[in-house]
Amino acid sequence: MKPLLPPFLRRRITLPAVICAALILTTVVSAHRLGGKFYHVRSTWLYIPYTQAGAYGTPVYYATRSWYNTPTVVIPYRSYNYATSKVDYYTVYRYDSWWGLTVHHPCSGWGCRYVWADLYLNSRTLAYETNFLRQKVAAHEFGHGLGLAHAPGYALYTSIMKQGYLSYNTPRTHDINDTNGIYPW
Ligand SMILES: [Zn+2]
Repeated sequence: MKPLLPPFLRRRITLPAVICAALILTTVVSAHRLGGKFYHVRSTWLYIPYTQAGAYGTPVYYATRSWYNTPTVVIPYRSYNYATSKVDYYTVYRYDSWWGLTVHHPCSGWGCRYVWADLYLNSRTLAYETNFLRQKVAAHEFGHGLGLAHAPGYALYTSIMKQGYLSYNTPRTHDINDTNGIYPW
């Protein structure tokens, strides 16, 4: 017969199981997140120095201002120092269908601590679009940069993280709540 484990050993075995269950639950609840985040200390501002290179400086400016204006800890501000910036906008010409693309560094996905994010705007697909849409794309990619995932197009709530054409181009209540969930006061 298998001897019963002393209480302290039983505890060690059951604890990881509890943590696993909690993680699964968290994953389901926070499907709006990519899983990574910038380093952030609770009850402090999250300063996001950003650089911007190439066309669309004006929509990028208004997109970052729209995030600045949210009731979140996020404080984007213009920077020219690529060594310390956290978000780098690049306008590039790509033979791809996307408007914008975000790449996190040095990793992405669950548990990653972002050091910086490259936000690409495609001047090929955005060439004949309005500044209204370019601002939407820049604000949307900024949301990815923070760690927000896509909101489904069929969702009843409004979200800047929806893809495609929207009637608005700034973060919505849903995006603010998601951001506050990742970076709490
Ligand atoms: Zn997207």
